[in-house]
Amino acid sequence: MDNISKLIEKFSQFPGVGGRQAKRFVYFLLSQDKNYAQALSTIILQLSDSVTKCSHCFRFFLSSSIDASVCNICASANTDKTLLMIVAKDVDLENMQKSNTFNGRYFILNGLMSIASKKDSVGLRTTELVREIKRAIEEDNLQEIIFAFTVNPEGDNTKMFIKQLLQPLIEKHKIKITTLGRGLSTGTELEYSDSNTLKSALQNRE
Ligand SMILES: [Zn+2]
Repeated sequence: MDNISKLIEKFSQFPGVGGRQAKRFVYFLLSQDKNYAQALSTIILQLSDSVTKCSHCFRFFLSSSIDASVCNICASANTDKTLLMIVAKDVDLENMQKSNTFNGRYFILNGLMSIASKKDSVGLRTTELVREIKRAIEEDNLQEIIFAFTVNPEGDNTKMFIKQLLQPLIEKHKIKITTLGRGLSTGTELEYSDSNTLKSALQNRE
């Protein structure tokens, strides 16, 4: 495979990017001078060195020190650590944070389960979630888990699966389980919801 085709293939693996768009990216790069590609590849290469994944919520954050393994949300004394919101993706967390409506902690599940699957989907952080919830119960006096998934069959299926998975822990420690209110319209992704919608969805959680 030639380099143009290879790069088109790489770009088309990006979320939301189709083959035609990937091609446009490649021809855009070709039309720039060499410095542009050089600078871009340097940023990409340095990305993983400057960014750390939080060991509690699994969010990517810019690490100021090499030792930091926990992000500023998880580490902050102002965060209400008795609340844990489970979201599918990093961008969902970012949007929720931007709306300034939630003061608790998060957990990024890394996707949703397909409706066909009754079992654990590959790539979802279910083992990590159970471990994190056990830790939060012990160390942070966790009181409530909030599901914040897109209102669609995949979101519902994932919620059911996670609820079953956590059932023993929930019962034993009397943890409240809630879901963002139906202010979120069906199919609307959390990452595209505006601040007011998120605020009312959080207030109307049930
Ligand atoms: Zn964190």
